[in-house]
Order: sequence, then C-alpha cells, then structure tokens
Amino acid sequence: MIINKQIIENIMTNYNKKRLRAAHEADIRKKNLFEKIPRLSEIDKEIKLLSINLSKLFLSPPEDMEEQIIKLRQNIENLKKERQLIYEKNNIPKDYLSIKYECLNCEDTGYTSDGKRCSCFNKEIIKNLYNMSNMVHMLKKENFNTFDINVFSNEPYKNEKLTPRQNMYYILEISEDFCSNFHHTNMNLLFYGGTGLGKTFMCNCIAHELINKEVSVLYQTSFSLFEIVENHKFNKLNESQENLMNYNMIFDCDLLIIDDLGTEVSNSFTNAELFNIINERMITEKKTIISTNLSLEQLRDTYSDRITSRIFNNFVPLKFYGKDLRFKS
Ligand SMILES: [Zn+2]
Repeated sequence: MIINKQIIENIMTNYNKKRLRAAHEADIRKKNLFEKIPRLSEIDKEIKLLSINLSKLFLSPPEDMEEQIIKLRQNIENLKKERQLIYEKNNIPKDYLSIKYECLNCEDTGYTSDGKRCSCFNKEIIKNLYNMSNMVHMLKKENFNTFDINVFSNEPYKNEKLTPRQNMYYILEISEDFCSNFHHTNMNLLFYGGTGLGKTFMCNCIAHELINKEVSVLYQTSFSLFEIVENHKFNKLNESQENLMNYNMIFDCDLLIIDDLGTEVSNSFTNAELFNIINERMITEKKTIISTNLSLEQLRDTYSDRITSRIFNNFVPLKFYGKDLRFKS
C-alpha cells in the first residue's frame, strides 16, 4: 500500500492546486467586473462595512439596539437589491463571482461533507493506478466480462484429462478467486503453456479487476523487466525518473505480472535478479503472476534450483493448452 499512499499524496496536492486556481480565477473575475462597473465595488464595500457595524452592535449593545439592527439589515437588503438589478441589467449570471470548483460534490477537497471520499477521488486513484500499471492500452477491452469461454474447444485434447474449455473454466475460477481473496491470500499464479492460448488475456482480466479495487499492479514482459533492472543497476547516474519509478514498482506494487518469462536473454545476472525479485516479494507478502511459454521441465532447465523451487512451492501452476486461438478462423 506504499504506492497508494504516494498516489493519494499526489492527488491531494492536485486538489490544493485546483482550489487555489479556482479561487484565483474568481478573484480575477471580481477585479475585472468591479473595474467595468465601479458601483458594484462600492456596493461590496458598503455591505462589508454595514456587516461589521452589525456585529459591533452585538459586542456592545446600545439602548436602541433593535432599531439599529433593523435599520442596518434594511440597508444591506437595499444594497443587495441594487446589486441584483445591476446584474440583471448587464446579463451577469448570479453566481458569476463565486468560486467554480471542478467537482461540486466535494468542492475539490476530495471529501464530501459527511467525511467520505468523493467519487472523483476514487476515480483519480484508479486512473493513477492504470497509468502506473503499464497496461493502459490493453486493459480497456479485456476483462472478465468480455471473456468468451466458447472460443475454447470442448473436444478432448491430447492426453489432458479436461477439454480446453473445461480447463479454462478451472483457470477462470482460480483467477476470479485470486482476485476476490487478493488481500487474504499468499497465492501466486504461474500461467504456462503455448502462445495464443489466452495467458496474457487472463493476466489483463486479473489486472483490470484488481486495479478497480485500488490494488497497485505492474505489468512487464520479462524482457522489459530485466531492462529496467539493468538500467537501474548499471546506469544509476543517467537513470530516468520513469525507470526509477518502474524499478521501485517491481518491489512495491501489490501485484507484479511478469509476462513471457523465458524470452529474456537468460544469464547469471538475470537469474540472480529474478531470484531477488521473487524472493523479496514473497518476504514482503506481495503477489506475483508469472506467465511463460516454457513447460515446467524447460523452466527447470533454464533457471537455477533456488528460483524454480521458489516457484514450484509458492505458485499455483495453471497449464494453458489447446489450439492456438489467434489462428482460428
Ligand atoms: Zn469530488
């Protein structure tokens, strides 16, 4: 939840800016209006003065207090009427000088009058999470609602016990479970199997679902993941803000999705860093989804024992199989 704290701080700073800007703009409107119609400025001053006199009466009440109050109030009323007439004559909207907030519910404070977070605040958090997830372009279309189980064949497939469709029902169930119990589970997921079988799609569905629950998600292909780590470790002096942010996200985000593990150039550096990432995230109880085209045997052959034992002991393996959906007519 470190990331959400940061996001909330940024959003609050933005609200402050918005309020200041709105107040400033109202000031400018007032200044211009008073220059154009000086009588309005006089009325404004007179009303202020009369209001001060009115409150003075309450502080040290004279004998004829009631009469004086009535007189002052009458004067204020008359000035307001005069002002209203000027407004009407010049076609000025009634609320012309009031501060124009972007959100009328919370007046750009983020909180409604009953102390609850305003819907504009929630939207802003989710927008920020989407931006940081690196999935902005993909997420819109792909979610559990657009998932069509019927594209998976219901015919037996090779030696598998379940048909591809039955298998997808199972994967779907585990994935939805993963989302609904996200904060109460230590579950990690390993999606493995050939390309074009819906692994990335499923990652997107999960990310979509969780971001809407204000979970911070980072999606990276393993290729760009190691690129970020490499830039951070070997290019510290010239590291971009974006790279640093992404690097920190790898460890801090609530859910890390590593897509296409196995497509990176595997060497002792990537091996050590992968172990570090998986291990660090397990220690801090953050969840990870790994998606790979490699079989379990190939994973074992490619990565060190300490990595694969972490994966095999702490990730639920879900095998994707069937005919490649991308080439289906
Ligand atoms: Zn609001």
